[in-house]
Amino acid sequence: MNLVVMKFGGTSVEDPAAIQRTAAIVAGRVASGKNPVVVVSAMAKVTDQLLRAADAASRGDRTGALAISSRLRARHRDTASALVKSPTEIAALLQFIDERFDSLDEVLRGLAAILELTPRISDLIVSYGERISSRIVAAAFCELGIDATPVDSREIVITDSQFQKAVPLDDIIEKRAAEKLLPLIVAGKVPVMGGFIASNEVGIPTTLGRGGSDYTGALIGGALSAKTIEIWTDVDGIMTTDPRICPDALRVKVISFEEAAELAYFGAKVLHPATILPAVQKNIPVLVLNSRNAACEGTRIISLAPHCKSPFKCIAVKKKLSIIDVVANRMLMSHGYLSQIFAIFDKHKCPVDMVSTSEVSVSLTVDSHASLPSIAADLSTLADVKYEGKKALVCMVGEDIRGQQGIAAQVFNAIRHINVRMISQGASEINMSFLIEEEDAEEAVRSLHAAFFQNPDPSIFDVEARKPASS
Ligand code: ASP
Ligand code: MG
Repeated sequence: MNLVVMKFGGTSVEDPAAIQRTAAIVAGRVASGKNPVVVVSAMAKVTDQLLRAADAASRGDRTGALAISSRLRARHRDTASALVKSPTEIAALLQFIDERFDSLDEVLRGLAAILELTPRISDLIVSYGERISSRIVAAAFCELGIDATPVDSREIVITDSQFQKAVPLDDIIEKRAAEKLLPLIVAGKVPVMGGFIASNEVGIPTTLGRGGSDYTGALIGGALSAKTIEIWTDVDGIMTTDPRICPDALRVKVISFEEAAELAYFGAKVLHPATILPAVQKNIPVLVLNSRNAACEGTRIISLAPHCKSPFKCIAVKKKLSIIDVVANRMLMSHGYLSQIFAIFDKHKCPVDMVSTSEVSVSLTVDSHASLPSIAADLSTLADVKYEGKKALVCMVGEDIRGQQGIAAQVFNAIRHINVRMISQGASEINMSFLIEEEDAEEAVRSLHAAFFQNPDPSIFDVEARKPASS
């Protein structure tokens, strides 16, 4: 068996044309002898709209919530009708859609009466997006000649009960996948399941966190020991940097898991960071591909990427950060100080991105600003505190910087005209990060890109992509 998990994001199933493109891609895999398992997101923007409906209902705006639901119902019905022509099939599909929206409306009405949106209710409400999209996609695939079967992810992806960010229970998932997916695959069928949604052990819907469909793809790939996991998006793969900043950004052909995980953390939107894990554990290559440009070979993420002439693979940038400087002479020679500082961040549930310390000061960056004044107030009982917003973190990632001399000099030489506020080189030794003013971010990225990707290695970077993006 040549098992491939193919995950398609919201834009790949956003309308009838997108679903037809997706079907053609899957049909191509089947024709070349592969056994695909398809994982789809909700249609583009649907999860956001479901959350808006939930929010409206929880504020007592029953009419507003039901209006959103009725627009979504029409959109799904129209998409189904445009794709499925056989009278019995379309009747069954429209009935399925109507029944789901009827029960969603019931939940929204209840919520508008109770006025309390819990994480558990939120997961129930958003689950409709993927439950319905996967059913429509499966029917459309059948219409287009693929022997597809819808499979309810909630019967396979079993998690704990941490609603909105549930943790998968790998052993059960493996067992369920073997019981429920394998026989279908062996029979030559193409299972189509919703990403992101799951259920706890007693069958209550949970979700894996926003953007979690990639995670589902990797979990299913891991559970079935697939040959590859394909993540279909609307970009050509992982790029050396944001093409909106550098039009001459290159496609990275191969990247290691470690490098990709580092990038995901720094806000490269292509992949959900946790996606990587189930694939890494089983050593399954992950391919990032473009459903609007299926001929492009994308980016291959593998355990150990080949050695490359360029020390870096990518430059990621994360804006809208704040820096907090904590200065205290009391810190000199004392112990337990850092833990007191972190306890305060912990109390405010505020994640810290980057830290650098000296004998008498600690600088930290955070990307959630709402709690900053209260964090600063708490910190000021320990030390002098200053905080400032509008900072950007630039992160250079590449395994080949490990142990190479002179890299830092090259980096800081390339941006010598820019004021650097904080520097950190992670313990993984595959990234070099620094904090600058937000207004300098584009200039810094362009200078670094010019310095490090001037002569790209064609075995690692797609030199063709140097042509302006218009093509
Ligand atoms: N539909 C979900 C979201 O928008 C999951 C996903 O698309 O990956 O977050
Ligand atoms: Mg996504």
